[in-house]
Order: sequence, then C-alpha cells, then structure tokens
Amino acid sequence: MKQKMILLMGGQGVGKGTHARALVERDGYGYIETGAILRALPAESKLAKIIARGELVPDADLFDVIADAISKTSGNIIVDGFPRTIGQAQWIVKNYADKFDIRVIYLNVPQDIMLARIQKRIREGGGRADDADDAIVRRRLDNFFKTTMPAIEWLRTADGVRFSDVDVCDEDFNVNFMRVSNAIA
Ligand code: AMP
Repeated sequence: MKQKMILLMGGQGVGKGTHARALVERDGYGYIETGAILRALPAESKLAKIIARGELVPDADLFDVIADAISKTSGNIIVDGFPRTIGQAQWIVKNYADKFDIRVIYLNVPQDIMLARIQKRIREGGGRADDADDAIVRRRLDNFFKTTMPAIEWLRTADGVRFSDVDVCDEDFNVNFMRVSNAIA
C-alpha cells in the first residue's frame, strides 16, 4: 500500500499549521512546513527578501527544497503550505502520485472570516515578521485568491488525487479537526 501524502491547502489564517500539528501529534505523520523552512533562510538571501514582501517564492527555487524535505521523511506525510501555484500542483502530482496516495485537504473558509482571523493573529502578536504589516498580509491574501485558488481548482479534478473540500468555519477547533480527520480517514 502507498503511503499517504496529505496536502493541506487554504488561505492565511484558516488553521493549516494548527491542523497539521494536531494530526502530526495524533498520527505521527512526517511534517513538512513549507513556510517555516523558507523563513529559516538567512535574512540576506534572495528568497528571504521575497518572503518579507509577502510575495510567493518562484516555483523553480522551491522544487529542490520540497524534494529534499520529502526525501528526508518516511511513512505518511503532511505537507503544509505547498502547493500554492498550478505549476507546483502539477509538479507534485507528476513526481509523487506513483509513490504516494495524494490527498488534498482544502480548508475552506470565506474571505471575511479569513481576514478576521489574520487580524486577530496580528493583534495577538504571533511574532511573525511577515504578519506585522497590514499591506503585506493583504498581499498574501491576494496571492491566495489569484494564484493558489486556481491550483486548488486544478487539483479538485486531477487524476491520481483524492480531493476533500472541508468547511473549517466552526468557532470550536475540535469540530473543525473532526471534519478534517474524517476527510483523511
Ligand atoms: P506561510 O508560513 O505558509 O504563510 O509562508 C510564508 C511565506 O513563505 C509566504 O508568504 C511565501 O512568501 C513563502 N511560501 C511558503 N510556501 C510557499 C509556496 N508553496 N510557494 C511559494 N512561496 C511560498
């Protein structure tokens, strides 16, 4: 049987990281947190400057990073924050659908709730440099609708992928987590 590769997708503030960590803790999956890997790059690097502006890192700069992270895991894995473009979505399906049972979990939250959650995160000072500036946060939200939504729509019907659209709008995290768990089971 193939190992599972769970691609957790959704906009800012929908709970990708929180759901991923809860699944990792419960099921012991390998965890690839794309944003954290990228934010750990030296501040003077080309990619760090792109991230600080709230822009997406070019696909070509990311593929080696993701392939390397995947090669270091064993068993089932959760990928948080990748893919975010159609090119990335096509790359992961082309290169990994034969080795993994790819499941996309789209954490679906309307834009107004997404914005409210991000603003709460900013107020509570999560400490992320790229969360500190409202314009940058909005740029990341724009990226999501312009660039990542088409990738989600492509994956919805892609061969070799099982796609679940999960409503995670409940106030209670446990309710949302139950829905995500059911989609993965
Ligand atoms: P995140 O923590 O997932 O919000 O990611 C932080 C930043 O890293 C994003 O705003 C992008 O600049 C960059 N990043 C993360 N994942 C990707 C991706 N799949 N493609 C391009 N850039 C990414």
